[in-house]
Amino acid sequence: MSPAVAVDVIVIGAGLSGLVCATRLVAAGARVRVLEARDRVGGRLLGRRIGDGVFDLGGQWWTAGQPRLAALADQLGVVRTPQFRDGASVLALAPAGPARWLPGRVFAALARGRRLAALSRMIARAGAGEAPAAWDQDSLGTWLERDVPDATLRAQVALHCEMTFATDPHELSLLDYLAQLGATDGHRGPFDGRDGDEHRFVPGAHALPDRLAAALGDRIALSSPVRAVDAGGDAVVVFTDAGSARAAHLVLAVPPAVARSIAFTPALPASAALAIAASRPGPVVKCVATYHRAFWRDAGRSGEAYLRPGLVRATVDACTSDGVPALTAFIVAADAASWSATPVAARTAAVCADLARVFGEPAASPTGFGFADWGADPWSGGCVAGLPPGARAAGAAWRGPHGRIHLAGTEAADRWPGFMEGAIVAAERAAGEVLGA
Ligand SMILES: Cc1cc2nc3c(=O)[nH]c(=O)nc-3n(C[C@H](O)[C@H](O)[C@H](O)COP(=O)(O)OP(=O)(O)OC[C@H]3O[C@@H](n4cnc5c(N)ncnc54)[C@H](O)[C@@H]3O)c2cc1C
Repeated sequence: MSPAVAVDVIVIGAGLSGLVCATRLVAAGARVRVLEARDRVGGRLLGRRIGDGVFDLGGQWWTAGQPRLAALADQLGVVRTPQFRDGASVLALAPAGPARWLPGRVFAALARGRRLAALSRMIARAGAGEAPAAWDQDSLGTWLERDVPDATLRAQVALHCEMTFATDPHELSLLDYLAQLGATDGHRGPFDGRDGDEHRFVPGAHALPDRLAAALGDRIALSSPVRAVDAGGDAVVVFTDAGSARAAHLVLAVPPAVARSIAFTPALPASAALAIAASRPGPVVKCVATYHRAFWRDAGRSGEAYLRPGLVRATVDACTSDGVPALTAFIVAADAASWSATPVAARTAAVCADLARVFGEPAASPTGFGFADWGADPWSGGCVAGLPPGARAAGAAWRGPHGRIHLAGTEAADRWPGFMEGAIVAAERAAGEVLGA
Protein backbone atom coordinates (compact mmCIF):
# COMPACT_ATOMS: atom_id res chain seq x y z
CA MET A 1 0.00 0.00 0.00
CA SER A 2 1.43 3.37 -0.94
CA PRO A 3 1.57 5.87 1.93
CA ALA A 4 -1.48 8.00 2.59
CA VAL A 5 -3.90 6.27 0.20
CA ALA A 6 -7.24 8.04 0.73
CA VAL A 7 -10.68 6.48 0.26
CA ASP A 8 -14.14 6.93 1.81
CA VAL A 9 -14.16 3.65 3.71
CA ILE A 10 -11.51 1.14 4.73
CA VAL A 11 -12.76 -2.36 5.52
CA ILE A 12 -10.44 -4.55 7.60
CA GLY A 13 -11.01 -8.23 6.75
CA ALA A 14 -12.04 -9.91 3.51
CA GLY A 15 -14.16 -12.60 5.12
CA LEU A 16 -17.80 -12.92 4.09
CA SER A 17 -18.81 -9.97 6.27
CA GLY A 18 -16.14 -7.55 5.06
CA LEU A 19 -16.80 -8.47 1.44
CA VAL A 20 -20.58 -8.09 1.71
CA CYS A 21 -20.11 -4.75 3.47
CA ALA A 22 -17.65 -3.53 0.81
CA THR A 23 -19.99 -4.67 -1.97
CA ARG A 24 -22.91 -2.72 -0.45
CA LEU A 25 -20.75 0.39 -0.04
CA VAL A 26 -19.37 0.24 -3.58
CA ALA A 27 -22.91 -0.19 -4.92
CA ALA A 28 -23.82 3.04 -3.13
CA GLY A 29 -20.94 4.86 -4.82
CA ALA A 30 -18.35 4.83 -2.01
CA ARG A 31 -14.62 4.52 -2.66
CA VAL A 32 -13.62 1.45 -0.67
CA ARG A 33 -10.37 -0.29 0.22
CA VAL A 34 -10.42 -3.78 1.76
CA LEU A 35 -7.30 -4.81 3.70
CA GLU A 36 -6.90 -8.56 4.26
CA ALA A 37 -4.18 -10.16 6.36
CA ARG A 38 -4.12 -13.51 4.57
CA ASP A 39 -3.05 -14.20 0.99
CA ARG A 40 -6.63 -15.27 0.22
CA VAL A 41 -10.16 -14.01 0.81
CA GLY A 42 -12.89 -15.89 2.68
CA GLY A 43 -11.58 -15.98 6.27
CA ARG A 44 -13.41 -18.82 8.03
CA LEU A 45 -14.78 -20.02 4.67
CA LEU A 46 -12.14 -22.15 3.02
CA GLY A 47 -12.25 -24.58 0.07
CA ARG A 48 -9.43 -27.09 -0.37
CA ARG A 49 -8.78 -29.86 -2.90
CA ILE A 50 -8.48 -33.20 -1.08
CA GLY A 51 -8.23 -36.40 -3.11
CA ASP A 52 -10.36 -35.86 -6.20
CA GLY A 53 -12.75 -33.32 -4.71
CA VAL A 54 -13.00 -29.78 -3.37
CA PHE A 55 -14.28 -29.54 0.21
CA ASP A 56 -15.30 -26.93 2.73
CA LEU A 57 -12.84 -26.95 5.63
CA GLY A 58 -14.55 -24.00 7.30
CA GLY A 59 -18.18 -22.81 7.35
CA GLN A 60 -20.39 -25.02 5.24
CA TRP A 61 -24.14 -25.21 5.89
CA TRP A 62 -27.08 -22.97 5.16
CA THR A 63 -29.99 -23.70 7.49
CA ALA A 64 -33.68 -22.96 7.04
CA GLY A 65 -34.49 -19.51 8.42
CA GLN A 66 -31.38 -17.77 7.05
CA PRO A 67 -32.86 -15.56 4.31
CA ARG A 68 -29.90 -13.27 3.69
CA LEU A 69 -27.50 -16.12 3.04
CA ALA A 70 -29.98 -17.76 0.67
CA ALA A 71 -30.51 -14.48 -1.20
CA LEU A 72 -26.77 -13.83 -1.49
CA ALA A 73 -26.13 -17.32 -2.84
CA ASP A 74 -28.95 -16.92 -5.37
CA GLN A 75 -27.65 -13.54 -6.44
CA LEU A 76 -24.14 -14.94 -6.92
CA GLY A 77 -25.39 -18.06 -8.71
CA VAL A 78 -24.14 -20.45 -6.01
CA VAL A 79 -26.59 -23.34 -5.76
CA ARG A 80 -27.52 -25.27 -2.62
CA THR A 81 -27.96 -29.00 -2.20
CA PRO A 82 -29.54 -30.82 0.78
CA GLN A 83 -27.14 -32.43 3.24
CA PHE A 84 -27.28 -36.23 2.81
CA ARG A 85 -28.82 -37.77 5.91
CA ASP A 86 -30.54 -40.95 4.71
CA GLY A 87 -30.05 -44.04 6.80
CA ALA A 88 -28.96 -44.77 10.33
CA SER A 89 -26.84 -42.41 12.40
CA VAL A 90 -24.74 -43.19 15.42
CA LEU A 91 -24.88 -41.66 18.86
CA ALA A 92 -22.47 -42.51 21.67
CA LEU A 93 -22.87 -40.17 24.62
CA ALA A 94 -21.62 -42.20 27.57
CA PRO A 95 -17.90 -42.88 28.15
CA ALA A 96 -18.29 -46.65 28.39
CA GLY A 97 -21.73 -47.04 26.84
CA PRO A 98 -22.41 -48.65 23.50
CA ALA A 99 -22.77 -46.65 20.31
CA ARG A 100 -26.43 -46.56 19.33
CA TRP A 101 -27.54 -46.61 15.71
CA LEU A 102 -30.63 -44.47 15.42
CA PRO A 103 -32.92 -44.00 12.49
CA GLY A 104 -33.16 -40.63 10.80
CA ARG A 105 -31.74 -37.56 12.40
CA VAL A 106 -29.93 -38.52 15.55
CA PHE A 107 -30.98 -35.63 17.70
CA ALA A 108 -34.53 -35.53 16.44
CA ALA A 109 -34.89 -39.10 17.62
CA LEU A 110 -33.13 -38.39 20.87
CA ALA A 111 -34.98 -35.20 21.66
CA ARG A 112 -38.40 -36.79 21.42
CA GLY A 113 -39.71 -37.23 24.91
CA ARG A 114 -36.90 -35.27 26.51
CA ARG A 115 -37.76 -32.31 28.67
CA LEU A 116 -36.64 -29.46 26.46
CA ALA A 117 -39.45 -27.07 27.27
CA ALA A 118 -37.70 -25.43 30.23
CA LEU A 119 -34.54 -24.91 28.20
CA SER A 120 -36.56 -23.47 25.32
CA ARG A 121 -38.17 -20.95 27.67
CA MET A 122 -34.74 -19.90 28.95
CA ILE A 123 -33.51 -19.46 25.37
CA ALA A 124 -36.53 -17.31 24.57
CA ARG A 125 -35.94 -15.08 27.63
CA ALA A 126 -32.27 -14.69 26.80
CA GLY A 127 -33.08 -13.94 23.15
CA ALA A 128 -35.53 -11.24 24.22
CA GLY A 129 -32.92 -9.69 26.54
CA GLU A 130 -35.00 -10.62 29.59
CA ALA A 131 -32.63 -13.06 31.23
CA PRO A 132 -31.58 -12.57 34.87
CA ALA A 133 -28.01 -11.24 35.07
CA ALA A 134 -27.22 -14.14 37.42
CA TRP A 135 -27.28 -16.48 34.44
CA ASP A 136 -24.02 -14.86 33.36
CA GLN A 137 -22.27 -15.92 36.57
CA ASP A 138 -22.69 -19.63 35.81
CA SER A 139 -20.94 -21.53 33.09
CA LEU A 140 -23.14 -23.72 30.95
CA GLY A 141 -21.25 -26.72 32.36
CA THR A 142 -21.90 -25.75 35.99
CA TRP A 143 -25.58 -25.19 35.30
CA LEU A 144 -25.91 -28.54 33.53
CA GLU A 145 -24.31 -30.38 36.46
CA ARG A 146 -26.40 -28.55 39.06
CA ASP A 147 -29.80 -28.08 37.46
CA VAL A 148 -30.27 -30.73 34.78
CA PRO A 149 -30.89 -34.15 36.33
CA ASP A 150 -31.45 -35.93 33.00
CA ALA A 151 -28.00 -37.35 32.09
CA THR A 152 -28.82 -37.79 28.41
CA LEU A 153 -30.12 -34.25 28.09
CA ARG A 154 -26.99 -32.99 29.88
CA ALA A 155 -24.76 -34.84 27.44
CA GLN A 156 -26.85 -33.67 24.50
CA VAL A 157 -26.62 -29.99 25.46
CA ALA A 158 -22.90 -30.30 26.18
CA LEU A 159 -22.36 -31.88 22.79
CA HIS A 160 -24.41 -29.14 21.15
CA CYS A 161 -22.24 -26.52 22.87
CA GLU A 162 -19.10 -28.26 21.65
CA MET A 163 -20.41 -28.53 18.11
CA THR A 164 -21.62 -24.92 17.94
CA PHE A 165 -18.89 -23.09 19.88
CA ALA A 166 -16.14 -25.76 19.77
CA THR A 167 -15.69 -25.09 23.44
CA ASP A 168 -16.07 -26.97 26.71
CA PRO A 169 -19.38 -26.02 28.41
CA HIS A 170 -17.42 -24.94 31.50
CA GLU A 171 -15.72 -22.19 29.47
CA LEU A 172 -18.92 -20.61 28.21
CA SER A 173 -21.30 -18.35 30.14
CA LEU A 174 -24.77 -19.89 30.50
CA LEU A 175 -26.25 -16.54 29.49
CA ASP A 176 -24.01 -16.22 26.44
CA TYR A 177 -24.97 -19.72 25.29
CA LEU A 178 -28.69 -19.05 25.72
CA ALA A 179 -28.55 -15.56 24.21
CA GLN A 180 -26.70 -16.73 21.12
CA LEU A 181 -29.28 -19.49 20.62
CA GLY A 182 -32.04 -16.95 21.21
CA ALA A 183 -30.64 -14.81 18.40
CA THR A 184 -31.21 -17.49 15.80
CA ASP A 185 -34.90 -17.02 15.12
CA GLY A 186 -35.91 -20.14 16.99
CA HIS A 187 -33.23 -22.27 15.38
CA ARG A 188 -32.01 -24.49 18.13
CA GLY A 189 -29.54 -26.49 16.16
CA PRO A 190 -29.86 -30.15 16.88
CA PHE A 191 -32.77 -29.65 19.26
CA ASP A 192 -35.45 -28.79 16.78
CA GLY A 193 -35.31 -31.92 14.66
CA ARG A 194 -36.52 -30.35 11.44
CA ASP A 195 -35.61 -32.77 8.69
CA GLY A 196 -33.73 -31.73 5.61
CA ASP A 197 -33.17 -28.12 6.54
CA GLU A 198 -29.39 -28.08 6.15
CA HIS A 199 -27.97 -27.44 2.72
CA ARG A 200 -24.44 -27.28 1.40
CA PHE A 201 -23.26 -24.98 -1.35
CA VAL A 202 -21.87 -26.21 -4.66
CA PRO A 203 -18.89 -26.37 -4.98
CA GLY A 204 -18.72 -24.97 -1.44
CA ALA A 205 -19.45 -22.00 0.79
CA HIS A 206 -16.06 -20.58 -0.22
CA ALA A 207 -17.62 -19.78 -3.61
CA LEU A 208 -19.49 -16.89 -1.94
CA PRO A 209 -16.43 -14.84 -0.92
CA ASP A 210 -14.60 -15.88 -4.09
CA ARG A 211 -17.35 -14.39 -6.27
CA LEU A 212 -17.78 -11.26 -4.16
CA ALA A 213 -14.02 -10.68 -4.30
CA ALA A 214 -13.89 -11.14 -8.07
CA ALA A 215 -16.37 -8.28 -8.45
CA LEU A 216 -14.51 -6.04 -6.01
CA GLY A 217 -11.25 -6.63 -7.92
CA ASP A 218 -8.27 -4.50 -6.99
CA ARG A 219 -10.15 -2.73 -4.19
CA ILE A 220 -8.90 -5.69 -2.10
CA ALA A 221 -5.30 -5.76 -0.88
CA LEU A 222 -4.23 -9.26 0.24
CA SER A 223 -1.33 -10.03 2.60
CA SER A 224 -1.96 -6.69 4.30
CA PRO A 225 -2.43 -7.25 8.03
CA VAL A 226 -3.53 -4.08 9.79
CA ARG A 227 -1.29 -3.39 12.77
CA ALA A 228 -2.67 -0.10 14.07
CA VAL A 229 -5.62 2.27 13.72
CA ASP A 230 -5.60 5.96 14.63
CA ALA A 231 -9.09 7.41 14.81
CA GLY A 232 -8.11 10.40 16.92
CA GLY A 233 -8.19 13.06 14.19
CA ASP A 234 -10.62 14.18 11.49
CA ALA A 235 -10.18 10.85 9.62
CA VAL A 236 -9.21 7.27 10.37
CA VAL A 237 -5.64 6.31 9.57
CA VAL A 238 -4.86 2.63 9.21
CA PHE A 239 -1.31 1.25 9.32
CA THR A 240 -0.02 -1.90 7.62
CA ASP A 241 3.55 -3.07 7.11
CA ALA A 242 3.52 -1.36 3.70
CA GLY A 243 2.31 2.08 4.76
CA SER A 244 -0.87 3.85 5.76
CA ALA A 245 -4.29 4.67 4.37
CA ARG A 246 -6.84 7.34 5.34
CA ALA A 247 -10.60 7.18 5.21
CA ALA A 248 -13.63 8.90 6.65
CA HIS A 249 -14.87 5.58 8.06
CA LEU A 250 -13.44 2.25 9.11
CA VAL A 251 -15.33 -1.05 9.13
CA LEU A 252 -13.73 -3.62 11.39
CA ALA A 253 -14.81 -7.01 10.01
CA VAL A 254 -12.60 -9.31 12.06
CA PRO A 255 -13.37 -11.62 15.01
CA PRO A 256 -13.02 -9.75 18.35
CA ALA A 257 -10.28 -12.06 19.62
CA VAL A 258 -8.21 -11.31 16.51
CA ALA A 259 -8.77 -7.55 16.90
CA ARG A 260 -6.55 -7.95 20.00
CA SER A 261 -3.52 -7.68 17.71
CA ILE A 262 -4.52 -4.21 16.41
CA ALA A 263 -3.39 -1.14 18.38
CA PHE A 264 -6.20 1.43 18.57
CA THR A 265 -5.61 5.15 19.21
CA PRO A 266 -7.56 6.28 21.13
CA ALA A 267 -8.37 3.01 22.89
CA LEU A 268 -11.74 1.48 21.99
CA PRO A 269 -14.53 2.07 24.53
CA ALA A 270 -14.61 -0.25 27.53
CA SER A 271 -17.42 -2.47 26.20
CA ALA A 272 -15.44 -3.32 23.06
CA ALA A 273 -12.12 -3.62 24.87
CA LEU A 274 -13.72 -6.03 27.35
CA ALA A 275 -15.20 -8.08 24.50
CA ILE A 276 -11.81 -8.25 22.79
CA ALA A 277 -10.11 -9.33 26.01
CA ALA A 278 -12.75 -11.90 27.05
CA SER A 279 -13.75 -13.38 23.69
CA ARG A 280 -12.80 -17.05 23.38
CA PRO A 281 -13.14 -18.62 19.97
CA GLY A 282 -13.30 -22.38 20.47
CA PRO A 283 -10.53 -24.46 18.88
CA VAL A 284 -11.76 -26.73 16.11
CA VAL A 285 -10.09 -29.00 13.56
CA LYS A 286 -12.21 -29.92 10.57
CA CYS A 287 -10.97 -32.98 8.67
CA VAL A 288 -12.08 -34.55 5.38
CA ALA A 289 -11.26 -38.13 4.36
CA THR A 290 -12.00 -39.25 0.79
CA TYR A 291 -12.66 -42.86 -0.30
CA HIS A 292 -13.14 -45.01 -3.41
CA ARG A 293 -16.71 -45.87 -2.34
CA ALA A 294 -19.27 -44.41 0.06
CA PHE A 295 -19.27 -47.76 1.95
CA TRP A 296 -21.37 -46.28 4.78
CA ARG A 297 -24.17 -45.49 2.32
CA ASP A 298 -23.92 -49.05 0.95
CA ALA A 299 -24.54 -50.24 4.52
CA GLY A 300 -27.62 -48.02 4.95
CA ARG A 301 -25.81 -45.48 7.11
CA SER A 302 -26.01 -41.72 6.85
CA GLY A 303 -22.39 -40.97 7.72
CA GLU A 304 -23.60 -38.88 10.65
CA ALA A 305 -22.22 -39.73 14.07
CA TYR A 306 -21.89 -37.95 17.43
CA LEU A 307 -19.28 -39.32 19.75
CA ARG A 308 -18.66 -38.05 23.27
CA PRO A 309 -16.04 -38.53 24.50
CA GLY A 310 -13.71 -39.34 21.62
CA LEU A 311 -11.04 -37.58 19.56
CA VAL A 312 -13.51 -37.24 16.69
CA ARG A 313 -16.59 -35.59 18.18
CA ALA A 314 -18.82 -35.72 15.10
CA THR A 315 -18.85 -36.95 11.53
CA VAL A 316 -21.05 -36.24 8.55
CA ASP A 317 -21.32 -37.38 4.95
CA ALA A 318 -19.32 -35.07 2.67
CA CYS A 319 -19.72 -36.77 -0.74
CA THR A 320 -19.43 -34.10 -3.41
CA SER A 321 -22.19 -33.47 -5.90
CA ASP A 322 -19.84 -34.69 -8.63
CA GLY A 323 -19.47 -38.03 -6.87
CA VAL A 324 -16.33 -38.03 -4.74
CA PRO A 325 -17.09 -40.16 -1.63
CA ALA A 326 -16.01 -38.47 1.59
CA LEU A 327 -16.60 -38.09 5.31
CA THR A 328 -16.05 -34.94 7.35
CA ALA A 329 -14.84 -35.28 10.96
CA PHE A 330 -14.81 -32.59 13.65
CA ILE A 331 -12.38 -32.38 16.57
CA VAL A 332 -13.24 -29.72 19.14
CA ALA A 333 -12.25 -28.06 22.42
CA ALA A 334 -9.24 -29.50 24.32
CA ASP A 335 -8.54 -32.20 21.71
CA ALA A 336 -8.42 -29.54 19.00
CA ALA A 337 -6.24 -27.26 21.12
CA SER A 338 -3.60 -30.00 21.46
CA TRP A 339 -3.91 -31.16 17.82
CA SER A 340 -0.80 -29.43 16.49
CA ALA A 341 1.40 -30.87 19.27
CA THR A 342 1.26 -34.34 17.63
CA PRO A 343 2.96 -35.23 14.31
CA VAL A 344 0.61 -35.06 11.30
CA ALA A 345 0.88 -38.79 10.50
CA ALA A 346 -0.14 -39.73 14.04
CA ARG A 347 -3.07 -37.28 13.97
CA THR A 348 -4.29 -38.63 10.65
CA ALA A 349 -4.03 -42.21 11.94
CA ALA A 350 -5.96 -41.32 15.10
CA VAL A 351 -8.82 -39.74 13.14
CA CYS A 352 -8.99 -42.67 10.72
CA ALA A 353 -9.00 -45.12 13.64
CA ASP A 354 -12.00 -43.32 15.14
CA LEU A 355 -13.76 -43.36 11.76
CA ALA A 356 -13.05 -47.09 11.44
CA ARG A 357 -14.52 -47.75 14.90
CA VAL A 358 -17.78 -46.19 13.76
CA PHE A 359 -17.98 -47.10 10.06
CA GLY A 360 -15.83 -50.23 9.83
CA GLU A 361 -12.38 -51.09 8.52
CA PRO A 362 -12.69 -49.40 5.07
CA ALA A 363 -12.75 -46.03 6.85
CA ALA A 364 -9.16 -46.61 8.02
CA SER A 365 -7.80 -46.31 4.46
CA PRO A 366 -8.81 -43.01 2.86
CA THR A 367 -7.63 -42.07 -0.63
CA GLY A 368 -7.06 -38.51 0.56
CA PHE A 369 -7.00 -36.66 3.88
CA GLY A 370 -6.92 -32.96 4.68
CA PHE A 371 -7.73 -30.69 7.59
CA ALA A 372 -7.86 -27.09 8.81
CA ASP A 373 -6.77 -26.32 12.36
CA TRP A 374 -8.67 -23.10 13.08
CA GLY A 375 -7.45 -22.68 16.64
CA ALA A 376 -3.85 -22.51 15.42
CA ASP A 377 -4.70 -19.95 12.75
CA PRO A 378 -3.70 -16.49 13.99
CA TRP A 379 -6.22 -14.72 11.73
CA SER A 380 -9.18 -16.69 13.09
CA GLY A 381 -8.08 -17.89 16.51
CA GLY A 382 -10.73 -20.62 16.39
CA CYS A 383 -14.28 -21.22 15.34
CA VAL A 384 -16.90 -18.86 16.71
CA ALA A 385 -16.46 -16.59 19.69
CA GLY A 386 -18.27 -17.11 22.96
CA LEU A 387 -17.87 -15.26 26.25
CA PRO A 388 -16.83 -16.83 29.57
CA PRO A 389 -18.92 -16.41 32.76
CA GLY A 390 -19.01 -12.85 34.04
CA ALA A 391 -17.94 -11.08 30.84
CA ARG A 392 -21.43 -9.94 29.80
CA ALA A 393 -22.21 -8.76 33.32
CA ALA A 394 -18.95 -6.79 33.32
CA GLY A 395 -20.15 -4.98 30.19
CA ALA A 396 -18.37 -6.82 27.38
CA ALA A 397 -20.25 -6.17 24.12
CA TRP A 398 -19.02 -6.37 20.54
CA ARG A 399 -21.35 -3.68 19.25
CA GLY A 400 -20.72 -0.32 17.57
CA PRO A 401 -20.39 2.14 16.11
CA HIS A 402 -17.57 3.84 18.02
CA GLY A 403 -17.16 7.20 16.33
CA ARG A 404 -15.79 6.54 12.84
CA ILE A 405 -15.25 2.84 13.62
CA HIS A 406 -18.06 0.46 12.65
CA LEU A 407 -18.18 -3.21 13.66
CA ALA A 408 -19.02 -5.91 11.12
CA GLY A 409 -18.11 -9.61 11.32
CA THR A 410 -20.47 -12.34 12.48
CA GLU A 411 -19.70 -11.75 16.17
CA ALA A 412 -21.11 -8.22 15.83
CA ALA A 413 -24.50 -9.46 14.58
CA ASP A 414 -27.65 -9.17 16.65
CA ARG A 415 -29.23 -12.02 14.66
CA TRP A 416 -27.47 -15.30 13.85
CA PRO A 417 -24.13 -14.37 15.48
CA GLY A 418 -21.53 -17.00 14.67
CA PHE A 419 -23.14 -18.02 11.39
CA MET A 420 -22.66 -16.86 7.80
CA GLU A 421 -26.11 -15.28 8.09
CA GLY A 422 -24.80 -13.22 11.02
CA ALA A 423 -21.78 -12.14 8.96
CA ILE A 424 -24.22 -10.69 6.41
CA VAL A 425 -26.51 -9.15 9.06
CA ALA A 426 -23.56 -7.31 10.61
CA ALA A 427 -22.19 -6.29 7.20
CA GLU A 428 -25.49 -4.74 6.15
CA ARG A 429 -25.83 -2.92 9.44
CA ALA A 430 -22.29 -1.53 9.26
CA ALA A 431 -22.77 -0.43 5.64
CA GLY A 432 -26.04 1.27 6.62
CA GLU A 433 -24.31 3.10 9.48
CA VAL A 434 -21.58 4.38 7.15
CA LEU A 435 -23.99 5.48 4.45
CA GLY A 436 -26.31 7.11 6.97
CA ALA A 437 -23.53 9.00 8.74
C1 LIG B 1 -14.91 -25.22 11.10
C2 LIG B 1 -16.01 -24.19 10.98
C3 LIG B 1 -17.28 -24.60 10.61
C4 LIG B 1 -18.32 -23.67 10.47
N1 LIG B 1 -19.54 -24.09 10.02
C5 LIG B 1 -20.49 -23.17 9.73
C6 LIG B 1 -21.69 -23.56 9.08
O1 LIG B 1 -21.86 -24.74 8.75
N2 LIG B 1 -22.64 -22.60 8.82
C7 LIG B 1 -22.42 -21.28 9.15
O2 LIG B 1 -23.30 -20.45 8.88
N3 LIG B 1 -21.27 -20.88 9.72
C8 LIG B 1 -20.30 -21.79 10.00
N4 LIG B 1 -19.11 -21.39 10.54
C9 LIG B 1 -18.95 -19.96 10.88
C10 LIG B 1 -18.71 -19.13 9.62
O3 LIG B 1 -17.61 -19.65 8.93
C11 LIG B 1 -18.46 -17.69 10.06
O4 LIG B 1 -19.61 -17.22 10.77
C12 LIG B 1 -18.22 -16.71 8.91
O5 LIG B 1 -17.40 -17.25 7.91
C13 LIG B 1 -17.58 -15.46 9.53
O6 LIG B 1 -17.31 -14.50 8.54
P1 LIG B 1 -16.68 -13.12 8.97
O7 LIG B 1 -16.43 -12.35 7.75
O8 LIG B 1 -17.50 -12.52 10.05
O9 LIG B 1 -15.29 -13.48 9.69
P2 LIG B 1 -13.99 -14.16 9.08
O10 LIG B 1 -14.35 -15.17 8.06
O11 LIG B 1 -13.18 -14.61 10.23
O12 LIG B 1 -13.25 -12.96 8.32
C14 LIG B 1 -12.40 -12.07 8.98
C15 LIG B 1 -11.25 -11.73 8.04
O13 LIG B 1 -10.43 -10.74 8.66
C16 LIG B 1 -9.08 -11.03 8.38
N5 LIG B 1 -8.26 -10.37 9.41
C17 LIG B 1 -8.15 -10.68 10.71
N6 LIG B 1 -7.31 -9.81 11.32
C18 LIG B 1 -6.90 -8.92 10.38
C19 LIG B 1 -6.04 -7.80 10.40
N7 LIG B 1 -5.42 -7.39 11.52
N8 LIG B 1 -5.83 -7.12 9.24
C20 LIG B 1 -6.44 -7.50 8.09
N9 LIG B 1 -7.28 -8.59 8.02
C21 LIG B 1 -7.51 -9.28 9.16
C22 LIG B 1 -9.02 -12.55 8.42
O14 LIG B 1 -7.89 -13.05 7.74
C23 LIG B 1 -10.35 -12.92 7.75
O15 LIG B 1 -10.19 -13.07 6.36
C24 LIG B 1 -18.06 -22.30 10.71
C25 LIG B 1 -16.77 -21.88 11.08
C26 LIG B 1 -15.76 -22.82 11.22
C27 LIG B 1 -14.36 -22.36 11.58
